[in-house]
Amino acid sequence: MVQPLHIIGAHIWNGHEVVRRDLYTTDRVTEKPASGTMTVDLAGYTIFPGLVNAHDHLELNHYPRSKFREVYDNAHQWGEDMNARLDTEPYKSLRAYPLWDKLFIGGLKNLLCGATTVIHHNPPHRELWRKDFPVRVLRKYGWAHSLHFSTDAEVVASYRSTPRMSPGSSTWRKARTR
Ligand SMILES: [Zn+2]
Repeated sequence: MVQPLHIIGAHIWNGHEVVRRDLYTTDRVTEKPASGTMTVDLAGYTIFPGLVNAHDHLELNHYPRSKFREVYDNAHQWGEDMNARLDTEPYKSLRAYPLWDKLFIGGLKNLLCGATTVIHHNPPHRELWRKDFPVRVLRKYGWAHSLHFSTDAEVVASYRSTPRMSPGSSTWRKARTR
């Protein structure tokens, strides 16, 4: 159960401008206060909507900055450099962390950056939808690693196995272009 809040005193970004108004929340913004509301005075603070991070690999956020050349022409070059080092340190040890720890670090990093919803670009781990995961993660999605690292057959198979009416699926695209 999410603690209902009555937020007073804060400046609020409404998508166009900063306004001063009270805000009622449960797990979402509501018109009126819910029962059991706790009042929080956020005078001096500004509230923004959570950002949506449209591309992350949540189990890889604990790697250090990984740059092996001065300049990369594209992400594929970097991916090849990275893949060649995955079984060397520090990546070997970092890859051995428990899955939950790796995912939690990724979720927490997003939250601290202001992202409250994340699109995960890797297999859909069950842990991503635990109630104590720091951010919301899109649940119904299809994904392919990349046009560079995946074979044509893998990309086609992933496209065909994308759940109907989820972002990226053929049914979703058709519905949007109608
Ligand atoms: Zn990716």
